[in-house]
Amino acid sequence: YKFKAGLEKSREKFQAEINQLMSMYRKVDEDFFEALEEILIGADVGFNTVLELTDELRQEAKLKNITETEDLKETIVEKMVEIYNRNDELPESVHIEEDGLTVILVVGVNGVGKTTSIGKLAHKYKNEGKSVMLAAGDTFRAGAINQLQIWGDRVGADVIRQAEGSDPAAVMYDAVNAAKKRGTDILICDTAGRLQNKGNLMNELGKMKKVIQKVVPEAPHEVLLTLDATTGQNALIQAKSFQEVTDVTGIVLTKLDGTAKGGIVLAIKNELGIPVKFVGLGEQLDDLQEFDAESYVYGLFA
Ligand code: GDP
Repeated sequence: YKFKAGLEKSREKFQAEINQLMSMYRKVDEDFFEALEEILIGADVGFNTVLELTDELRQEAKLKNITETEDLKETIVEKMVEIYNRNDELPESVHIEEDGLTVILVVGVNGVGKTTSIGKLAHKYKNEGKSVMLAAGDTFRAGAINQLQIWGDRVGADVIRQAEGSDPAAVMYDAVNAAKKRGTDILICDTAGRLQNKGNLMNELGKMKKVIQKVVPEAPHEVLLTLDATTGQNALIQAKSFQEVTDVTGIVLTKLDGTAKGGIVLAIKNELGIPVKFVGLGEQLDDLQEFDAESYVYGLFA
């Protein structure tokens, strides 16, 4: 199982609750569905998604004439995967250019695990034999540039940086030119996550993109939003704010190992329409996994 390690908290809670549910309610009836809804909402699946899920389960149970709750278990798993994979407007996988430079912009507020995730991503691509460069575009937060440098040194990726307080677009200009010149495969760009001032953030990200596009017109290939799974429904609110300031193409959901409410993955995809592309399952370099719904949902049940 891809998600054997890192999902223990969510798995333990979810399994215990589902098992208890199955032993309390042997027959598929309205009481059972209401108790199931409570469990799913408690796992941060999100209200609308839960209702969608249980409505379809009710229909499915009727259609297939399933009367024992135990016999419905497999259908619950299948439905969760199906609901996650529904409405795929954006590609599930990360867009990496076959030839030439791929630019990945990473956005998110401070403390969610943005820098760590950039380090893990760089490590992953280095391991795949690609050359990676980092751009220290968070020139606002004290220490952000040095923190990125530490990750760059650790994984063996060059870091393009300027002094604290300098114009992030100027850093991007340097970085994308350097990456082009050196024939780098992947440029991962850190950005400041100041949601307090949405207008500024929007301008800043807009300017960064424009500068990057002067050199690579189709870039950025990905705009990954980092969200902290332990913040639950707040992560959804953050994501909605970021969607207002930039086009997010995917989510990096960090600290899934730190929460028992792993249902947040479904809520994010269903309520925002943005696929989760990576999940963070620990503090080490290898603790980043490419997401896929089937492994994930089976990981919660198995
Ligand atoms: P930033 O301010 O968004 O750049 O956040 P950092 O990358 O500095 O991370 C903040 C804290 O979260 C650090 O202590 C990280 O080790 C920790 N962290 C980041 N990702 C994960 C994860 O997937 N799991 C766990 N358990 N901790 C994480």
